[in-house]
Amino acid sequence: MSSNDLSSPVQYIKGVGPRRARLLDRLGIKTVRDALFYLPYRYEDRSSIKKIAHLRPEEINTVTGKILKADVIIPNPRRPKLKIFELAVSDGSGLLRAKWFNQTYLKKIFKPGQEVVLYGTVKYNYWGTGFEIINPEYEILDDTDDESNPSAFSLQPSASCIHTGRIVPIYRSTEGLSQKQLRNIMYSVLNSSVSAISDPMPSEIIKEYNLPDLQESISNVHFPSPTSSPTFSITDLNRGTSPYHQRLSFDELFTLQLGLAAIKKGEVLEKGIVFSPDGRLINGLLNKLPFKLTYAQERVFKDILKDMQSSAPMNRLLQGDVGSGKTIVALMSMLAAVECGYQSALMAPTEILAEQHYINIHRLVEDLGLNTHLLTGSKKDKEVDVIASGDADIVIGTHALIQEGVSFKKLGLIVIDEQHRFGVMQRAILRKKGINPDTLIMTATPIPRTLALTLYGDLDYSIIDELPPNRSPIITKLFFEKNKNRIYSLIEEETKKGRQAYVVYPVIEESEKTDLKSAITGAEGLQKIFPHLKVNLIHGRMKPVEREEVMREFKNGNVHILVSTTVIEVGVDVPNATLMVIIHAERFGLAQLHQLRGRVGRGSNQSYCILLSYGGSEDARKRLDVMVKTTDGFRIAEEDLNIRGPGEFFGTRQSGMPDLKVANLLRDAKILEMARKEAFSLIERDSALAGYPQLRKSIEDFWGKRLELFKTA
Ligand code: ADP
Ligand code: MG
Repeated sequence: MSSNDLSSPVQYIKGVGPRRARLLDRLGIKTVRDALFYLPYRYEDRSSIKKIAHLRPEEINTVTGKILKADVIIPNPRRPKLKIFELAVSDGSGLLRAKWFNQTYLKKIFKPGQEVVLYGTVKYNYWGTGFEIINPEYEILDDTDDESNPSAFSLQPSASCIHTGRIVPIYRSTEGLSQKQLRNIMYSVLNSSVSAISDPMPSEIIKEYNLPDLQESISNVHFPSPTSSPTFSITDLNRGTSPYHQRLSFDELFTLQLGLAAIKKGEVLEKGIVFSPDGRLINGLLNKLPFKLTYAQERVFKDILKDMQSSAPMNRLLQGDVGSGKTIVALMSMLAAVECGYQSALMAPTEILAEQHYINIHRLVEDLGLNTHLLTGSKKDKEVDVIASGDADIVIGTHALIQEGVSFKKLGLIVIDEQHRFGVMQRAILRKKGINPDTLIMTATPIPRTLALTLYGDLDYSIIDELPPNRSPIITKLFFEKNKNRIYSLIEEETKKGRQAYVVYPVIEESEKTDLKSAITGAEGLQKIFPHLKVNLIHGRMKPVEREEVMREFKNGNVHILVSTTVIEVGVDVPNATLMVIIHAERFGLAQLHQLRGRVGRGSNQSYCILLSYGGSEDARKRLDVMVKTTDGFRIAEEDLNIRGPGEFFGTRQSGMPDLKVANLLRDAKILEMARKEAFSLIERDSALAGYPQLRKSIEDFWGKRLELFKTA
């Protein structure tokens, strides 16, 4: 039986059926195609068969032989419930006993005289007189009419075994579906459907990179055949770097990059605003600043200005570590738009942040004669009118900006702060409020280049890779519970110098489910220890207005110690705060720790970050060590990617990117570069892929609804 339609439900494949289809669904396998691209996560080499006479205890081995005896044994008559199914197997060189506890049904499966293959750890028996193997994986060689053992498929003429006597794939499975059942299903799917796969890759590219055949690649990543060429080692397979894995990674990354290239091409083809700012407001601002721009800030602003002056709409990502001074650059860009008679909008992820931007920006541009407005929470008619009439030159807000009913007279530039808090859709909605406005997206989450090419492959990309001068690097220390008193003396010292401290907790309130220290209890405790200081509390369950009030008090210097949860994680700027204490630091992710630490060290005074750990996993310890070792956001991001793996690293789902099934951005960085180069050059030649209908189809499958552009092309 074969299935030529790869999108047909996997249920109809031989050996699957409705019950197993439901289990497969849990693994994300719905269609035949899903199954073909559901790759093993590791492999076991069960190919070399050992003579029984050559076995050694504690080695994992594959053995083949004839069944001499098959019996259920009750080893202890006083415990009649304990039953062992036992095989005695001989290969001519010796005798091996295989044992399964409480699996008497095996009696129906094994019969004396059958040839079997067994795989597992070999041990001496209880008396030390012979070898046994407990709960081995097994396969019956002459068992041709067993439903669960489909015959070998054509690409693997030498492979008569599925589970033993070969390099065996191990899949992530789910409860109710054994490794063996899943492997049988995969074998069956390949057997029936791999020949239906047609290769959409342009033949020039196949030639150029000498890519192995697609069908063969899929067969080999599931059931590697020793006779395939090019050859590979078990290590290659386990690392996902066999030529066959690389072929599939190339395809996946190529499809991803084609989508990005198409998005980018589509935007370039749109007509944007040609700004020709005269520099009047920008110079006014620069004259007021108490500092000079860093070289990096100047360079990045030049990039932006060039984009704004061109007729293609700008889509630029501005990346810069916490405290690198992105806000000023954004403001200069907004002024460039205002100079040309347009409005600018800045969208921030939290009210605190929006308000802070508003206060800063308002202060800086007020006497340049500009109107700055803040829009958070539900819309107020007055604000909405001011924005719609065009009286507001600069509008700063939260998600409130993208509500229905908020409209601009002449929106020319939008700036999105801390972009990872917003999805692609929200960005798009704000853009729709203008006519192809220029877009500047800012992020303080440093992203390794490979990931940036993937997540933001459709954007141009600038980095502020230099911190303003006179910042002494933050001193970071890892403390454990026994050092707790040293934290108190640090707080005492810093506040005596007139500085302020943050103390961050993982939870608001204590609960019975965890024994985590909490912000509420922590604040009470600190107030008792420091009766002469003002301690305040901020957390996400407070009303936004209350939070703002607390934040304002802290900024104004009226509060010495601010106890909080991660609500202060993003972007809050209080240069006088020099001490960051993170309680239960082991509970936080690296990106979060880095952001939290970035709340201090923003002035010229020496700042400290104390990570208080209560233990935690090995990964947690690794994270804390990274924090102590470096303050470089890029190194931290790379370590984070190493520890967490790319899937989790950046919430790809939220960012609107398709998931990668095969490729790994760390491992396959080189492949990504090649795939990107080819994808962008193909779109350059044929932007609608008119000459590549198959490829177009596979991009649509891969990107789903996210990519509407081919519909109109
Ligand atoms: P971020 O990139 O994290 O958003 P900000 O824009 O909030 O950083 O800037 C951090 C602090 O550095 C602010 O107080 C800002 O006024 C200050 N700053 C920005 N640029 C410079 C500069 N070139 N020299 C000195 N201080 C600067
Ligand atoms: Mg910022």
